[in-house]
Amino acid sequence: MEILLRDDLAALSDLDEKSLLEALSQRFSQNHIYTYIGDILVSVNPFKYLPLYEKEVAEQYKCHEKSSLPPHIFAVADKAYQSMLGRLGTGSRNQCIVISGESGAGKTESTKLLLRHIMDLCKANSALEQQILQVNPLLEAFGNSQTVMNDNSSRFGKYIQLRFLKSSVKGAKINEYLLEKSRVVHQDEGEQNFHIFYYMLAGISQEDKEMYGLLETSQYRYLNGGCGTEEMVRQWTTKYSEVCNAMDMVGFEEREKVDMMTVLAGILSLGNIVFEPSESDALRVAESAQGWLKASAGQFGVKEEELLRSLICTMSVTRGESICRFHNQQQAEDARDSIAKVVYGRIFGWIVTKINVLLAPNVDVGVDLKEIGILDIFGFENFTVNRYEQLCINLANEQLQYFFNHHIFLMEQKEYTEEGITWEAITFKDNKPILDLFLSKPIGIFSLLDEQSAFPQATDRDFVDKLNSKFKGSPHFEIARSRHPVFTVVHYAGKVQYNGNGFLEKNRDTIPGSIRDLFINSVTPLLSVLFTATISRTGTFMPRKAKLLQNSEDNFNSTRKQSVGAKFRHSLAVLMEKMFSANPHFVRCIKPNSKKQPDQVDERIMMDQLRYNGLLETIRIRKDGFSWRPSFEEFAQRYRILLFKPDLPLNKESCMEILNRTELRDWKCGTSRLFFKYWHQEELARSLERLD
Ligand code: ADP
Ligand code: MG
Repeated sequence: MEILLRDDLAALSDLDEKSLLEALSQRFSQNHIYTYIGDILVSVNPFKYLPLYEKEVAEQYKCHEKSSLPPHIFAVADKAYQSMLGRLGTGSRNQCIVISGESGAGKTESTKLLLRHIMDLCKANSALEQQILQVNPLLEAFGNSQTVMNDNSSRFGKYIQLRFLKSSVKGAKINEYLLEKSRVVHQDEGEQNFHIFYYMLAGISQEDKEMYGLLETSQYRYLNGGCGTEEMVRQWTTKYSEVCNAMDMVGFEEREKVDMMTVLAGILSLGNIVFEPSESDALRVAESAQGWLKASAGQFGVKEEELLRSLICTMSVTRGESICRFHNQQQAEDARDSIAKVVYGRIFGWIVTKINVLLAPNVDVGVDLKEIGILDIFGFENFTVNRYEQLCINLANEQLQYFFNHHIFLMEQKEYTEEGITWEAITFKDNKPILDLFLSKPIGIFSLLDEQSAFPQATDRDFVDKLNSKFKGSPHFEIARSRHPVFTVVHYAGKVQYNGNGFLEKNRDTIPGSIRDLFINSVTPLLSVLFTATISRTGTFMPRKAKLLQNSEDNFNSTRKQSVGAKFRHSLAVLMEKMFSANPHFVRCIKPNSKKQPDQVDERIMMDQLRYNGLLETIRIRKDGFSWRPSFEEFAQRYRILLFKPDLPLNKESCMEILNRTELRDWKCGTSRLFFKYWHQEELARSLERLD
């Protein structure tokens, strides 16, 4: 019982911030990195190898109900899988697993372990299983990078949906959110570009290197001169062959791989182009960088003069006449960097789309597939300078918090009321007003941003002024006095000051027509496809032809290019709809220190995370709440065996008869169902076990 108590902190009496922290760090020091708080799993990153994931361990965590094993990420996978199949008395339903935490807390590792265990549970079609598992190294190579916080930091958010027919997996789908494209052209001190560039340069054969026109890592400005230690280069080499294998396994064609590498090489060459003034109005490419222009044009499969033109001037058409406006130095560099960003962004989007096509379930239309979704998305961010990206990320976190609140608090309260059971009303911080501040139409931060983005002449200052005038006096908005266009949002997790510089540009994210034309005419098939296709509202690529076949409403929407904010808002709404209709599981990841060190607990760092993760609040709610609510019929059906009366009618009276024979206390009986605390289910499971 002692172990059980400490495995689940919700069962501790008199729990406060201090004792929660103490319990977690004490367990952590004994390498117990997992702890339950009710049915929420807390995971503290060990930053070292622990023998927790071996085959034998995985074997134990199959079929949840039979076990009273220590807390484990595999137990969450198992529970989601069994619930999806309707084996836990809840009826067969879609499931979603929400993983939250700061950068470096262990979200992505948890995601991989969950996937691995779920694949292990549904031994069905091993080729497909392998494909699904291989998707990860591929996504990580293109979407992850080394940062100060995490050597393998995901620079995008993802929702992986596994689709099942009964117990066997039939396919998968990935949604990606907000890839940090700016990393392609700039990295802060101590950080790197996306992994794939280093992997490619380290792993590629000399012969291929020449074919792609690639040089050493240290030669490329976009790679920050980083060349890596011998050990790192060895690792990159291994990773490169892993990526190549993954691409083969997932089903990429040779031609596509070659094109992709060539385009990546083109991005690197492009980054080395620098400009200098010339005798005429136009800038020219510096003498020393002429070779890079040539290389880049070759790798992109476009004409050198045309690439140059799109770098040094903007063409516009007025009354049928083309007018060329020359760029200054800054504008030319911006044009260069935005080409690199848009090309990389499209490659990434294409990879995800391609994966989704290859992993799409191969079943007849109308077949009812069930889903397990796993959400691995950046946690709440509050840096010294917070930009457009942080605004989007924090909106996502606000949404997730809302989902969490909604699930834990409101749903329970509502049902208790409906069922007429007594229950002390609990208070909680409802963050709906903050969501409204962001999402309301026509007066919400994102709507106002779209409105301002639509005016070519509007500035970031205008946008912030607009916010200030509309939200003056709102409890979740503060006007900031500064020469910069800044504003403060009072988030669920605390105040964040945003710097509005660049908001309009980032929100518009338009690529000049000349750049699109340049790439549409590329002789590299992949590039021309990437720029011919349009991005649909769900963020996937659709060739033009397919778009014409869409219904008229979609056609209408796609004639006006959607802003980045609008697309993101839409994809969040789709995600939320999915999540609200599923049975949720929560995993909260915590990092014990910010130095990526094993066996070290920095109490302040941990406490901050406990606080804004809402874990303490969670304890209170879970302890008070009833997390399992079977109908009379469901309950009687399942447990009448305890009375050895298989013919007992499936009604309320039978339930009472069964319950009176157990030692269960504190459950409640509503008008149509029973209400149990989360531990009742375990106790009942043990009673069943004793029968065996
Ligand atoms: P996040 O996705 O939350 O930013 P990651 O999942 O990438 O964080 O984890 C960061 C690093 O921490 C990993 O690269 C790994 O070195 C270490 N780590 C995370 N989880 C574990 C674990 N369960 N066991 C051992 N090391 C881990
Ligand atoms: Mg991650």
